[in-house]
Amino acid sequence: MSMNIIQDFIPEGRRNRPGYKIIGPKYITIHSTGNTNKGANAAAHGSYLRGAAANVPASWHYTVDDKEIRQHIPLDEVAWHAGDGGNGPGNRSSLAIEICENKDGDLSKAIDNAALLTAHLLQQFNLGLNKIKQHYDWSGKNCPRVLRNKPGGWADFLAAVEGHLKPATLPKIDRTIGIHVDGKKVSEVGYLIGNATYVRAAYLIGLTGGQVTGHGDHIKIVLPAKTDPAEIAKLKAEINGLKAANAALEARIENARIALS
Ligand SMILES: [Zn+2]
Repeated sequence: MSMNIIQDFIPEGRRNRPGYKIIGPKYITIHSTGNTNKGANAAAHGSYLRGAAANVPASWHYTVDDKEIRQHIPLDEVAWHAGDGGNGPGNRSSLAIEICENKDGDLSKAIDNAALLTAHLLQQFNLGLNKIKQHYDWSGKNCPRVLRNKPGGWADFLAAVEGHLKPATLPKIDRTIGIHVDGKKVSEVGYLIGNATYVRAAYLIGLTGGQVTGHGDHIKIVLPAKTDPAEIAKLKAEINGLKAANAALEARIENARIALS
């Protein structure tokens, strides 16, 4: 996943950057800003946290809008966002993401950027989908309201996070392709993907007498020993000589049989 995170840290020592070590983190808490004003984007919230809010015990780790992600507090430090008290698990053990609601922004894009960031954090801290919390879960506040006030909004958000967790989609196979070896159809098949045909390397190399092994990030191909064309010609001549000698012997045996009968 590609994600551009701008570091926009609150200076140390401010009341909204208490500097306590976070426990875990064990959860990701989702908020929305509640501010629909034009221009109330991630950058604006970054300057608010560094300025007017510096002496208010209110902060969070990330603000996400439709264009960027800003980080305000390092991930090993506590922010005051959950409304569950100075020792509450929301404040002390969860990372907080605020989704911007500015009316000059694309809200669904901001929500999807937040889903992408959430997926990234779940992976980074090895957390499951059940560790994503709403601000509401800690304090009962109707937050994140942009997801809570929309029917199915929260479920859709979780599904979007899950979608970002899944590995990139595999290429689509258009159809299978039959394989003929020396004029005979074999049970192995190839695959047409886009405009190219793919056949298992182990199968193809196996036909030549070579071997393909390996796992993980590489495969190892061992080609069969090369044969010298002069050597083959010599062996063929030898075989032909033996065949001729054999035919002569068979003729003599046949003649003898006739003579005896
Ligand atoms: Zn909130």
